[in-house]
Amino acid sequence: MLEDAPNGVPDRWVKTACPYCGVGCGLLAGVKDGSIVKIKGDPDHPANLGDVCAKAVHLPQSLNTADRLLHPHARNSQDKPFSRVSWETALQITAQKFAEIIGESGPEAVAFYGSGQLTTEAYYVGNKLAKGFLGTNNFDTNSRLCMSSAVAGYQASLGSDGPPASYADIEVADCFLLIGSNTAFCHPVTFKRIKKRKLDDPDRVMIIVVDPRRTETADFADLHLPVRPGGDIALLNGMLHVLIEEGLTDPSFIRRHTRDYERVEAAVKSYGLESAARDSGVPAPLIAEAAMIFGHSKAALTLWSMGINQSTAGVHKNNAIHNLHLVTGKIGKPGSGPFSLTGQPNAMGGREVGGLAHLLPGYRSIANPVHREEVARFWRTPVARISPRPGLAALEQFEALEKGKLRAIWILCTNPAVSMPDTGFVEKALRQAELVVVQDAYHPTGTTQFAHVLLPAAQWPEIEGVMTNSERRITYLPKITEPPGEALPDWKILALFAREMGFAEAFSYRSAGEVYSEFARLTRGTLCDYSGVNYERLRGEGPLQWPCPDPGHPGTERLYVESCFPTPDGRAVFIPVAHQEPFEAPDEDFPLVLTTGRVKNQWHTMTRTGKVPSLMKNCPDPFVEMNPADARKQRIRDADFIEVVSRRGKVIAQARVTEQITRGACFIPFHWGRQYGFFKAANNLTLTARDPVSRQPELKACAVRVRKLLDFPLGDN
Ligand code: SF4
Repeated sequence: MLEDAPNGVPDRWVKTACPYCGVGCGLLAGVKDGSIVKIKGDPDHPANLGDVCAKAVHLPQSLNTADRLLHPHARNSQDKPFSRVSWETALQITAQKFAEIIGESGPEAVAFYGSGQLTTEAYYVGNKLAKGFLGTNNFDTNSRLCMSSAVAGYQASLGSDGPPASYADIEVADCFLLIGSNTAFCHPVTFKRIKKRKLDDPDRVMIIVVDPRRTETADFADLHLPVRPGGDIALLNGMLHVLIEEGLTDPSFIRRHTRDYERVEAAVKSYGLESAARDSGVPAPLIAEAAMIFGHSKAALTLWSMGINQSTAGVHKNNAIHNLHLVTGKIGKPGSGPFSLTGQPNAMGGREVGGLAHLLPGYRSIANPVHREEVARFWRTPVARISPRPGLAALEQFEALEKGKLRAIWILCTNPAVSMPDTGFVEKALRQAELVVVQDAYHPTGTTQFAHVLLPAAQWPEIEGVMTNSERRITYLPKITEPPGEALPDWKILALFAREMGFAEAFSYRSAGEVYSEFARLTRGTLCDYSGVNYERLRGEGPLQWPCPDPGHPGTERLYVESCFPTPDGRAVFIPVAHQEPFEAPDEDFPLVLTTGRVKNQWHTMTRTGKVPSLMKNCPDPFVEMNPADARKQRIRDADFIEVVSRRGKVIAQARVTEQITRGACFIPFHWGRQYGFFKAANNLTLTARDPVSRQPELKACAVRVRKLLDFPLGDN
């Protein structure tokens, strides 16, 4: 690990954006002698107003590490050593194998698995190549693990994906409902903004946090609702019940701008507070209090992330949130709206380019023949080349690999051997593949050990491109430093491969700017209209929020201000949703529910943050958080080493016995993969059950049992 930041006083400062989370903070990168030596927040960027968190401050230490992948490598089988090869050879080998597999088994036997850390330009090129030219919709990304339930929830309730609110709404909201989000750890700069809002007006602003754990976020709240894992819909329906009973609704908004209210009203009227308390595990008075705060507020923001989305009922949980906002008319107004927080820096951009297996660019759908026709015409490819069938979503790609139906997978900028549920299954699937191409900045990672071909990718800050943050704001990222070795930008690697596959004309881009301009034109007339945004504007004026349909347009702070929704009749839709238990209920053999999440200073699978000692020091190892009542049953004391077992695997870690987690639940952070120690990987335990619509896996709930490893006698405490 690197001990310290590169030394030096910067001789220039360059505006860019943070490559970590979906807050999308603007950064000032201090450069000296061609290297980044310092990072600070950009005071002009509306996402963070100069603030920044520790992960970004320590970015310089994570860039030129000894494990940067500098050259392409290849090998015939996963048990052989890699040989260094030229770019030409690496791309030829890959193209030959892709062509052979497509020739023998059809285009659906190959797949791409990408990442919300790709730039919009890289996403666009990969998506265009797969869907428009290779003829497979098997282009999906790790955003499937992160936000696909939010995407499907917005589509069903509001008519389209796209968070309606902005960070500026934080400054005018007087109620914050944070549900399934440890914002203090996962979106720290946004949390500090919420905190400031509360401290500026403590009597009026109220914060409600729904979480099975008393996190740092919950600690700051006025009201913490310790929901049991899987109880969110029950709780939200209970709140809806109270809002209706107490007349805290907006009948005029409901009548003029929504439909199907009666269905929801009928469903929740018979679902009283007692039922809600039983199913959510939250006492009825707390649910009622939360509803009264929400209902009496002038402006309410609901913010959520993986705790809602990573569920077999993830889409319905999103719908339940939207129901609260629709019934109170708290949407499209200053300080109000449902506002999903994206995990990754460009998960939003990925959604906009159609980087999920059922989407096409500009929030278009694979299933819609008009959309296929529009995109095919734009790409100058036969419309029949774009299959009408959605491709394999993330987990399905690995299931198809395991069954031999998928023969080749190209993994870009992500580490599924660590981040996917049920690591044992994912590793087995990768071993079955005939061809695994891994395009990454680092080697080894949990995933590169399964590669046949390794392609060195340039990373932030070595690439030019744009990213969109949670509030629909597009930020330009310049190329600041030279990539090491032979590393190339992701978009360029994909374009070179496309040329090797015989699509030279459609992929003749000479720069990221050319890719961007093409994509921006394709969004014209859609909700996520980028056509008024170009590199020049972004460099000159700074980041802009879509829709931004012409070069003179200032961008759009808030969607649906006219209460007109992108549905056929312009009305938002109430969707009745019912409580649903997690897929794997606890039982006698596995009596606890495991939930997973993050620690403060780590990012995803630690390929970058894990190399910075100061980010590691407050949590060098995973741990198991459990309630004293559950610990006592197993004679477990704080700091004991314990074994956690699910139907799929095992984790060994130290116990943190604390009242901060609700009874019946336990928590393990997911950042550590097997390369840190086989039994440190939380995803040894998790399961592949998923939401039937969004196909997002239920990473937040599986049944486990715990056992103390060394049975020391219990003391007095
Ligand atoms: Fe980067 Fe997120 Fe921290 Fe902002 S809050 S500096 S985007 S990691």
